[in-house]
Amino acid sequence: MSSVETIHECIILGSGPAGLTAAIYAARGRCCPTLIHGRQPGGQLTTTTAVDNFPGFPQGIDGPELMENMRLQAERFGTQFIEGEVTRVELGERPFKVWLGEDRYLCLTLIIATGASPRLLGLGNEEALYGRGVSVCATCDGFFYRGREVVVVGGGDTAIEEAVFLTRFASRVTVVHRRDTLRATPVLAQRALDNDRIVFRWDSAVAEILADQAGVTGVRLHNLKSGVEEVLPCDGVFIAIGHQPNTALFTGQLEFDGEGYIKTRNGTETSVPGVFAAGDVQDPIFRQAITAAGSGCMAAVQVERFLDDLPSEAQLSCQKGICQPAS
Ligand code: NAP
Repeated sequence: MSSVETIHECIILGSGPAGLTAAIYAARGRCCPTLIHGRQPGGQLTTTTAVDNFPGFPQGIDGPELMENMRLQAERFGTQFIEGEVTRVELGERPFKVWLGEDRYLCLTLIIATGASPRLLGLGNEEALYGRGVSVCATCDGFFYRGREVVVVGGGDTAIEEAVFLTRFASRVTVVHRRDTLRATPVLAQRALDNDRIVFRWDSAVAEILADQAGVTGVRLHNLKSGVEEVLPCDGVFIAIGHQPNTALFTGQLEFDGEGYIKTRNGTETSVPGVFAAGDVQDPIFRQAITAAGSGCMAAVQVERFLDDLPSEAQLSCQKGICQPAS
């Protein structure tokens, strides 16, 4: 087994806004973080064409460009990047152990910023149509549907909040829900039911997303009670059937909430001292790039304080060094 036995001061898992912001702050602080990312770095924002609501970009910025900028900024302050899929972690004692296949990495602190993945409908073309009519984030993409017709799939708080939000732009919003009652909280549900720009297709599922070269043209709906099918023309389909936090690696090692998100307290502390969680992996509510970035910053600050408080023997076993800017 090839193993890397350097003890890293801080390993960060994930390269979305939370992970990269944690890296920028940790690298500018006292430790040289090592960030491990998968084959498609950048997180959920890389699936968004334009980000209009990240402060500092008055004309908006492409999601992939924003993430590339954050990566360059983290690199400039000395973050080390490793590409690979984390296959196992051991958080029972320090140093914590992180495996990428056969390679083992040891660390005194760990920041988990593995994000959450939007649940999809399981239709063949939905991922291919990201940015061409299919979206999983109304806050990110709603603006582009001014005067157009959109469908929102789901009946929970997210779907209903997104439907209400989309009425600011779209000429018509159709909520497609698989049952005849909403899961969303009553106050929110009533607001949508009272909104005459929102129409509902109850007991219905999207059987197919219809598209041409330019993008989405409609959906084929299937009524789950009557079996009747209809084609509903539309320009956009917002899928809001929940998110799945990417926490499988930590099952049994960290406390989760009832929905599988990592429980945090006092900012980004998890149930294991020295392990911090930032961004969507611990946030079922806000899920915005800016809130993820904010919690990444908090995690890095908490890592610094944690390292400062470690007994000096533990600190001595760690490879130290002042982070050198890349240029
Ligand atoms: P959710 O509560 O799990 O709702 C998911 C919705 O999608 C449900 O209506 C569900 O239908 C439907 N659904 C699930 N799988 C489906 C499938 N394969 N095909 C079609 N429909 C499917 O998820 P969420 O709305 O994202 O909310 C997640 C959590 O965040 C909740 O606790 C929510 O309260 C919270 N949240 C709060 C706010 C707020 O307070 N402002 C805003 C957003 C989210 P069924 O109803 O039939 O199961």
